[in-house]
Amino acid sequence: MAVLRFDSVSKQYTGGRTALAEVSFEVAAGEMLFLTGHSGAGKSTLLKLIHLAERPSRGAVLFNDRNLLKVRGRRVALHRREVGVVFQDHRLLTDRSVFDNIALPLILRGMRRAEIGKRVRSALERLGLADREAALPGQLSAGEQQRVGIARALVAEPRLLVADEPTGNLDPTLSAEIMALFASLPERGTSVLVASHDLGLVKRMRRRVLVLDHGRLVDDIAPEDLADG
Ligand code: ADP
Ligand code: ADP
Repeated sequence: MAVLRFDSVSKQYTGGRTALAEVSFEVAAGEMLFLTGHSGAGKSTLLKLIHLAERPSRGAVLFNDRNLLKVRGRRVALHRREVGVVFQDHRLLTDRSVFDNIALPLILRGMRRAEIGKRVRSALERLGLADREAALPGQLSAGEQQRVGIARALVAEPRLLVADEPTGNLDPTLSAEIMALFASLPERGTSVLVASHDLGLVKRMRRRVLVLDHGRLVDDIAPEDLADG
């Protein structure tokens, strides 16, 4: 079953040029794949259409067979519970502890405090942050901050995780650790779509790769067809 489907999706920004042109692809449930292409190719725009930060100009985006065009108003927040988002700049609240940052999505949906505590501690454990829960983001290393951002995206157990250049600010060792973590998610029921312009890193992961060029999907490479390098 497809968790995500793009059906001839185009996006033009007001007054701007075409960010996406007739893009079609499917992501199977439990799949991990990459989205690559030069700066300006449309990667961020494609991810924004999935978490409803933007709307397509033409075509349809389907999530679990639901057409996102019909997801409006209060349903947007419900949809976002099923899609975890990781940003390059992680967007943590600087005056809140690690624990509070990760708890936020659960607090917003009115979950009970005992349940929140359980889920947040489990996410902290999973990301190797158990001893950092009381720290403020400013007291953490870049890699730890990014892991908090990932914990916040995962705490609600989304069907799909989308990550926009999640290793853009990290050294190669930390990048590899984050990628290994992403690669472990599908077996837990979360599909993963990672946008990255770091071709070397993408190739090393040996997963399916979608390639965007000036808004067009120009390649959809199976893992076995990835060249070394
Ligand atoms: P990428 O993530 O691959 O760098 P983007 O999706 O950010 O690409 O951008 C694709 C194209 O859309 C670029 O030409 C960019 O300048 C343009 N663009 C992105 N966001 C906006 C916006 N909010 N308004 C107008 N143009 C935009
Ligand atoms: P709202 O209900 O406030 O419009 P939405 O989440 O539905 O919020 O819309 C998100 C963005 O999509 C907004 O920037 C809105 O202008 C734009 N948008 C709304 N309707 C359409 C449409 N039919 N086609 C393209 N973009 C749209």
